[in-house]
Amino acid sequence: MNRGYDAIIVGGRCAGSPTAMLLARKGYRVLLVDRATFPSDTVSTHILHPVGVAALARWGLLERLVTTGCPPIHTYAYDFGPFTIEGGPGTTDSPVAYCPRRTVLDKLLVDAAADAGAEIREGFIVDEIVVEDGRAVGVKGRAGGGAPVIERAEVIVGADGRRSRVADTVGPEQYRERPPILAGYYSYWSNLPMNGRFETYIRSYRAFAAAPTHDDLTLVVGGWPISEFEANKKDVEGHFLKMLSMVPSFNDRIQGAKRERQFAGTPVPNYFRKPYGPGWVLVGDAGYNKDYVTAQGISDAFRDAEECAAALDRSLSNAAPFDEVMREVQQRRDEHVTSMFEFTCQLATLEPPPPDMQRLFGAIAGNRKAMDGFAQMNAGTISPAQFFAPENIGALLGASGV
Ligand SMILES: Cc1cc2nc3c(=O)[nH]c(=O)nc-3n(C[C@H](O)[C@H](O)[C@H](O)COP(=O)(O)OP(=O)(O)OC[C@H]3O[C@@H](n4cnc5c(N)ncnc54)[C@H](O)[C@@H]3O)c2cc1C
Repeated sequence: MNRGYDAIIVGGRCAGSPTAMLLARKGYRVLLVDRATFPSDTVSTHILHPVGVAALARWGLLERLVTTGCPPIHTYAYDFGPFTIEGGPGTTDSPVAYCPRRTVLDKLLVDAAADAGAEIREGFIVDEIVVEDGRAVGVKGRAGGGAPVIERAEVIVGADGRRSRVADTVGPEQYRERPPILAGYYSYWSNLPMNGRFETYIRSYRAFAAAPTHDDLTLVVGGWPISEFEANKKDVEGHFLKMLSMVPSFNDRIQGAKRERQFAGTPVPNYFRKPYGPGWVLVGDAGYNKDYVTAQGISDAFRDAEECAAALDRSLSNAAPFDEVMREVQQRRDEHVTSMFEFTCQLATLEPPPPDMQRLFGAIAGNRKAMDGFAQMNAGTISPAQFFAPENIGALLGASGV
């Protein structure tokens, strides 16, 4: 049967465009559709940790980002009040992070997919996933109010985010679900220089962070527990500024700065989904989502894209069965992200760290190697399981006896 394309990818941002690009580079016939047109923004802050930067470098796209003038971030600083832990988040090969506006990053990714030979349809809304005999075989959608069309493919890739139409249709097994934990908001300020630093301030039931982005603007994001969402949503600015005033030194800096955009933000649910089934695959937030307090989503979407494109290559070229390669993808994903998922869900509660953890963080502060390890863990360069392993902590802190 002529299935039209090898792959149709629904969603063209951090997960979808790299998947399309990598498959198209392998010579597959790829159709990428998104209801958005590019460049366009989306509700998301955009810390791109060094592991995500490394993916851009592997794909030959880092230089394109650098030439947009996005400032590099060499230091992550975590201010707990009594002490600050600050270190380098990356590795020798990929030492810095960036905080690129999604208008810039997502456009760059869509263009790279087009350059690779993927057919791109922007402003195309997928209304329906076509399922025949229990197998996803195509999408039904329309562009700009036009007549509905059906396009068919060997595999339908849902890169369509948290409210995935593909996932809704195929109903994947969902596990380790947790409801939203944190209510977060963000905006952009001018005249708030960061000097290559990503700064996070942790206080009791409040946390906020600042990072430099395009156009000499600084992103400031912060939030409170979801239990305060309803009460605070009528005056986000008032509660946000009150939170910043908990740190007088930062408050002084924000007083001299100017907010340039409206506040945006949304709470998000936490879940894993089985990322494959007959004729379909889920990548990015469509397959796995967690609170953004650890800013892992874009890097995870890149990793997913790479893993899924490699697996689909093996399956589409008949080197290995689809179920086998995708089962491996799911296993590797879950192994890779589980300790970060647990760490993220805990951090998102904004509960003060328990006393033994506070003692540990106090001992880390001032110890260069341990502080780098802490920054690398928060960046996802190493996993929380690796970082908190007793032998690692012992090695990092030497004989300090913590
Ligand atoms: C407030 C907030 C802050 C965040 N901060 C960070 C951060 O600092 N760093 C970080 O790494 N991550 C962050 N994240 C997470 C990050 O935004 C996501 O993990 C990332 O965008 C996932 O990319 P994606 O491609 O899977 O999905 P999305 O970026 O959600 O893209 C999905 C695309 O699918 C398209 N689509 C959906 N349905 C259809 C349809 N029916 N037809 C056609 N197109 C469709 C949409 O138009 C959209 O373009 C944050 C998230 C939020 C909500």
